[in-house]
Amino acid sequence: ETQKETRGFQTEVKQLLNLMIHSLYSNKEIFLRELISNASDASEKLRYEALSNGDLYENDGDLKIHVSFDEAAKTVTIEDNGIGMSRDNVIEHLGTIANSGTANFLNQLSGDQAKDSQLIGQFGVGFYSAFIVAKKVDVFTRRAGQPSTEGVHWSSEGEGEFTIESIDKPSRGTKIVLHLKEGEEEFANGARLRNLVRKYSDHIALPVVMQKEAPLGEEQDGEEKTVAEPEDETVNSATALWTRNKADVTDEEYAEFYKHISHDYNTPLTWAHNRVEGNLEYTSLLYVPEHAPYDLWNREAPRGLKLYVQRVFIMDQADQFLPLYLRFIKGVVDTNNLSLNVSREILQKDPNVDKLRTALTKRVLDMLAKMGKNEPEKYAEFWSQFGGVLKEGPAEDYTNREKILKLLRFASTQSEGKEPTVSLEDYVGRMQEGQKKIYYVTAENYNTAKNSPHLEIFRKKGIEVLLLTERIDEWMMSHIFDFEGTSFQDVAKGELELDDAASEEDKKAQEEAAKKSEGLIERLKERLTEKVSDVRVTTRLTESPACLVLNAYDMGAQMRQIMQAAGQ
Ligand code: ADP
Ligand code: MG
Repeated sequence: ETQKETRGFQTEVKQLLNLMIHSLYSNKEIFLRELISNASDASEKLRYEALSNGDLYENDGDLKIHVSFDEAAKTVTIEDNGIGMSRDNVIEHLGTIANSGTANFLNQLSGDQAKDSQLIGQFGVGFYSAFIVAKKVDVFTRRAGQPSTEGVHWSSEGEGEFTIESIDKPSRGTKIVLHLKEGEEEFANGARLRNLVRKYSDHIALPVVMQKEAPLGEEQDGEEKTVAEPEDETVNSATALWTRNKADVTDEEYAEFYKHISHDYNTPLTWAHNRVEGNLEYTSLLYVPEHAPYDLWNREAPRGLKLYVQRVFIMDQADQFLPLYLRFIKGVVDTNNLSLNVSREILQKDPNVDKLRTALTKRVLDMLAKMGKNEPEKYAEFWSQFGGVLKEGPAEDYTNREKILKLLRFASTQSEGKEPTVSLEDYVGRMQEGQKKIYYVTAENYNTAKNSPHLEIFRKKGIEVLLLTERIDEWMMSHIFDFEGTSFQDVAKGELELDDAASEEDKKAQEEAAKKSEGLIERLKERLTEKVSDVRVTTRLTESPACLVLNAYDMGAQMRQIMQAAGQ
């Protein structure tokens, strides 16, 4: 087992490496952010595990990340004293991609570099980004609590395989040495590295330290200069970003922190940072991503917030703090109301979790409402990415139904084009005198909806109708009955109750028409007896000769198709 062993990367890793190197090249400096991010994660994991096993500190509780370089050797080194990796960990984490959606993800790649780099970003660039600038990467690591003989040396040139061998490693944690490619020597430079640490990793809660650079004067001065122990200095601000005051954090810092916690390569659309004191004490920093992740519709996909208790990292993907319909939200919650030894099982029972969930859900809904009001263009972007998920909300979260309803956007007969821009508040605000209901039509697509014969009478009367064309719409409408007291009406169902306005004369005319057509209607009923339950004279139509109408409590056409497709 101490022998050096050569292994192949999982096929997906090879593909990903290749793609990453080519599509992220224009932003190659992010490798440092990714490696520091991992070092920080590893240190937080150690701190968490040490809560129940202090020995893991091995008498060194001073957690930090060390960045160094060797100009002559053209190397950059990132070292941490975090949790480290066992041999099995190394093989698993640095040879495969654990995420089961990988193949699915790779299928979505188009070969267009600009588009692909965005997708890769969403997938998480991670450790492999080292190969953007390095022709060879050495990893030396040992898991905390293991004997020094359990050290592991992993090495790869990023081309299909890696070697792994056992080594003696007295210090716990991970050291990563990048052997820079030709042309990338600029990174073996103190000023450049300091700059990158400040730019991308300032928010990291641990100190990122580098050796102090000797002031220029000193070096030249004298023969018998005693070679002083090189001194370290902390380069970043080393405070957890969410503990800082809002006013002191710049947008860039918020964005960098988002990239660190979300493993998303893009900037966030918006965020909300709140501190709450009192009975329930927590700080939350919640982000709305710019793009939907490729696995948004996979209900098994990892989601949830990063949970901290009194500044100590507890777990990733704590999914108890937000409902499923807000699964796209990324962020951090740090609370004093949970105990440090909380586990996933305990989370499910702790009443404080419910309180936090209620509070955080409200935060998110308020953040979205604010964006909808103040930044409609941004909101439209948000809606195009996540509107479909939000539509699960009214059914899932009865308490917040009104709030969610206000966030919905639709196309309508009075909005321009098929973009969903009309809110229910807009609709209600321009309802006609005497109009009692919110009218909508569901159809498979915008054109069908827009040309539905059911709309004729509404057009004639100048009444707005919402055009619902997403698959989820009809299902959603089956869960909502009214908006602030005004009920919804599917224009293809039951009686329309538009008749208040109809004059006596109109009514008479209709009755007469019905009488006149009696014979025709009888014949139609006979002919269609297998297909329809009734044939009636109508005022719904102004141009079309006939249309199909459902009884008020029938399943809609869309639902019917879904059920049929499901074999019911
Ligand atoms: P991610 O950080 O999104 O999990 P990465 O590709 O950045 O993905 O890292 C893959 C995995 O390798 C990490 O989840 C972690 O288990 C392991 N790893 C990477 N760097 C370190 C490190 N410095 N210390 C311990 N484990 C690490
Ligand atoms: Mg990472």
